[in-house]
Amino acid sequence: MAWKHTEESKAKLRASWTQERRAARSAELRGAGNHTWKGGRVIEPRGYVLIRVGVGHHLADVRGYAYEHRLVAEKKLGRSLLPDEIAHHDDEHKSNNEPNNIEPVTRAEHRKLHRKLDKGLRDPGEPNPKVTCACECGASFLRFDNSGRPRRFISGHNSLPRNAKGQFNG
Ligand SMILES: [Zn+2]
Ligand SMILES: [Zn+2]
Repeated sequence: MAWKHTEESKAKLRASWTQERRAARSAELRGAGNHTWKGGRVIEPRGYVLIRVGVGHHLADVRGYAYEHRLVAEKKLGRSLLPDEIAHHDDEHKSNNEPNNIEPVTRAEHRKLHRKLDKGLRDPGEPNPKVTCACECGASFLRFDNSGRPRRFISGHNSLPRNAKGQFNG
């Protein structure tokens, strides 16, 4: 009996989950297809927020939508973004358009920011401290290699087989 109940409640859970997903999906479709939908706020496929501003707006696309992060950046600057300027998301979350998360930067600055954020590469002049191997073998080495890439393991130590105590074999 206990087993049967478990299976029943699982099925119920599955059904309600499917219903929720369907409702969310159709709400999404209504929003995207209807320009007068709740203030005209739409999340585009890449995760950026689009705001209905009307086709007359200088940041608007052909449907009259503009990127919210660009609108926020211009409000912060008190002027239009220059062709070389990008509205960067400080926390890397494309839909967090709180003014304190939006930083207007030049394309060059932006590349530099993402180089750091995406790969953690060493900046020119950044210190290169000694760190210990993440496998806990106790060996230490310089954090960045000659190409400026950060390292966590001595080469080879992240793939060696280990025994039950987490020590390397051989
Ligand atoms: Zn960015
Ligand atoms: Zn090691």
